[in-house]
Amino acid sequence: ACVGQRQLPHASVDEVQALLARGETGPRELPVPTASVLSQLQRLLSGALTPEQVLAELKTSNLRGLGGAGFPAWRKWETVRAQPGPRYMVVNIDEGEIGTFKDGHLLTSLHGGAPQVLEGMLIAAQVVGAERIWLYLRDEYHDARGLLAREIDALRTRLQGLAAQYPGYTPPQIELRRGAGAYICGEESALIESLEGKRGMPRLRPPIVATHGVFGRPTLAHNLETLWWLPEILAQGGAWLAAQGRRGRSGLRRFSVSGRVRQPGVYLAPAGITLRELIDEHAGGMAEGHTLYAYLPGGASGGILPAALADVPLDFDTLAEHGAFIGSMAVVVLGQHDSARDAALNLMQFFEHESCGQCTPCRAGTTQAVRLMQAPVWDAPLLAELSQVMRDASICGLGQAAPNPMDSVLRFFAHEVSA
Ligand code: SF4
Repeated sequence: ACVGQRQLPHASVDEVQALLARGETGPRELPVPTASVLSQLQRLLSGALTPEQVLAELKTSNLRGLGGAGFPAWRKWETVRAQPGPRYMVVNIDEGEIGTFKDGHLLTSLHGGAPQVLEGMLIAAQVVGAERIWLYLRDEYHDARGLLAREIDALRTRLQGLAAQYPGYTPPQIELRRGAGAYICGEESALIESLEGKRGMPRLRPPIVATHGVFGRPTLAHNLETLWWLPEILAQGGAWLAAQGRRGRSGLRRFSVSGRVRQPGVYLAPAGITLRELIDEHAGGMAEGHTLYAYLPGGASGGILPAALADVPLDFDTLAEHGAFIGSMAVVVLGQHDSARDAALNLMQFFEHESCGQCTPCRAGTTQAVRLMQAPVWDAPLLAELSQVMRDASICGLGQAAPNPMDSVLRFFAHEVSA
């Protein structure tokens, strides 16, 4: 069930970087190799596949949003589809979570990552009836921007052909938007504010984006990787994807693995794999001179777990009892020379910097937390109280999850912060 990155038809990050370093090909010269045949989209347009069948496969596959929230994809589709038009779609490629680099990797894969994402996007748009699509790309992904722009240009031409071939098909308008480097714009409602030309600040919910998204219209918002899976699901069947996984979990996950491992990288592995298996089977073991001390299972906001919990299944809904979550599968491995306390302080400083400042529990809470965490001995009761206020009263996930690493230190690494 385990599919290693190297068995997939993609070049690894290292291979792409090696090509660029050798000057053999710059970002603009990366081949647009496999102008996608759009075979699954064509099945849908020709009537060989109905929108209901696509939804049924999606449901069977148990595909969840892979940007961090893990919300079942089919539920979003059904909600958006049930709303009156016009309906819109947003592809979230902001990928700002610390330690996450899987979406960038997918985009720059030499053998078809971007075309497959675009085909998935068109299938989703067709099923929910979205007439406009915005792709919101992380500003730091310079290489991917040129590649994606060329792919979209090629796609527009191809879509004109499909419109002529299938009367009644009106291709959606597609627009590539460039982010401006704000972490909070990865949050879907802040992203939409930014798309609308406003400052990127999360909205109060309800109403949800699926019913009131871009310019107040029903909007299907998906992470890039979620869309990548759609042609795969339609080609191989939803049951195929659902049958992958370990320890009763379902599906395949792309883990961004970094830190004290021998081979950091993006690895496609079964849902429910453990950290120990991920390191040993995919990342080449621990880096020389390092033994496992702790790990971040889900980037900046997913908490910090000790080595003693290296055998718990990594997936959505499996880490909550340990005060952690998997998010976008950004696994950062710490060794015995690292400090969980330093990591937590660093992350809280990051949140302080990236807070949009809209609500007091987050804006003032992150600042106060940084101050308290800089003390040699942590005031545990006060930090616990602050953490609770931030969780209860922050508007969005940034403020609600910002205390996770700090709480992890108090729970698992108290020896680092006590007298
Ligand atoms: Fe902004 Fe933080 Fe409030 Fe979210 S929790 S709206 S990032 S201030």
